[in-house]
Amino acid sequence: METKTKPLSTSELIHMEEAYGAHNYHPLDVVIQKAEGIWVWDVEGNRFLDFLASYSAVNQGHGHPRIRKALMEQAGKVTLTSRAFRSDQLGPFYKEMCELSGYGRMLPMNTGAEAVETAIKAARKWGYKVKGVPEGQAQILVFTGNFHGRTTTIVGFSGEAQYKEGFGPFTPGFTMLPYGDLEAVRTAMNPNVVGILVEPIQGESGIIIPPDGYLKGLEALCREHKALFITDEIQSGLGRTGKMFAYEHEGVRPDVVIIGKALAGGFYPVSAILADDEVMGVFNPGDHGSTFGGNPLACAVAREAVKVLTEENMVQNSAELGEYFIEKLRSIQSRHIREVRGRGLWIGLELVPQAGGARRFCEALMAKGMLCKETHEHTIRFAPPLIITRKELDWALERVNQVFKELD
Ligand SMILES: *Cc1c(COP(=O)(O)O)cnc(C)c1O
Repeated sequence: METKTKPLSTSELIHMEEAYGAHNYHPLDVVIQKAEGIWVWDVEGNRFLDFLASYSAVNQGHGHPRIRKALMEQAGKVTLTSRAFRSDQLGPFYKEMCELSGYGRMLPMNTGAEAVETAIKAARKWGYKVKGVPEGQAQILVFTGNFHGRTTTIVGFSGEAQYKEGFGPFTPGFTMLPYGDLEAVRTAMNPNVVGILVEPIQGESGIIIPPDGYLKGLEALCREHKALFITDEIQSGLGRTGKMFAYEHEGVRPDVVIIGKALAGGFYPVSAILADDEVMGVFNPGDHGSTFGGNPLACAVAREAVKVLTEENMVQNSAELGEYFIEKLRSIQSRHIREVRGRGLWIGLELVPQAGGARRFCEALMAKGMLCKETHEHTIRFAPPLIITRKELDWALERVNQVFKELD
């Protein structure tokens, strides 16, 4: 007789994670079993609206049928060649991304942090080979509140004490300046600066939007001092802010653009940097690489994920519904709310310090079927998949309103 094993419960699965896993995260206690579009279901069958979209990796919605089909089809052909050989997916992926972004070349990696590392290497080498910075002297300007990933080099220039604590010694060559302050950048500029690494809007810091003209000012300072203007668009890019890339809001053109997350619609880790010949040309065979970077499965998935974004008008939807949602959130009357800010469907609702922290609000929202994650202590982030409709946002707003009433 066939024995059917009883499915594990939420508490059993949480216990298992806690017992056997490293405790490097503190997730909300929801155990997700399946997802479709903007919705996820836990192991007990409860449904939630996903307002985090995996930190914007699922801008296209969970399990988008077209991306899934591309993945399945490619999985049946060839998944990995390594870059020792070529694949029929890589060239078309490059070409499509360059046509979309207007850059001359792309270099693919897997995770966001790897793409940031790639940008750092490109900037340094460009500094030595093209700008003429003395060997070992390259300096990159970074900003308070930054988040660029978790490698030892990257956490070395994080402003977040916890990200660094116990992980040193760190890579030298980075100078931290206050985010949003152009004068500080002007003062810090010197002949050894090879690049400025900046998020057009800071996500992990709590959806921090710099003053108008900041990106334009950074671009101008980079031109003036011959330094590379590098934007980390891993979370802000690919439609999240209502433009394909967040730098478009100020009409600038960075020298290097770093992308990841939504690049493969949540099916696969795919990241990349985009740049023109002058920068990308510093890489020669053997200089840099990755076993999985640019593999055919990644390329096929990413190609379809990006097509879906544009062909299904998700960027436009983000712009329109983002504006609508921000306005509605701003109309909520609550003594707990300090500020609502955002661009497109990337919104931070910051609470006053007396509100008791964002986590209890996120837990209350979860009890009503909405999954939001607190960002730092006092900010609730709203970043649903970009396929969400006005009606679904209204459903959510009702619940947000209820939570603010109940916790008043
Ligand atoms: C998520 C993120 C990263 C790191 O990406 P991983 O895939 O987690 O390595 C880097 N920069 C920004 C702005 C991010 O949001």
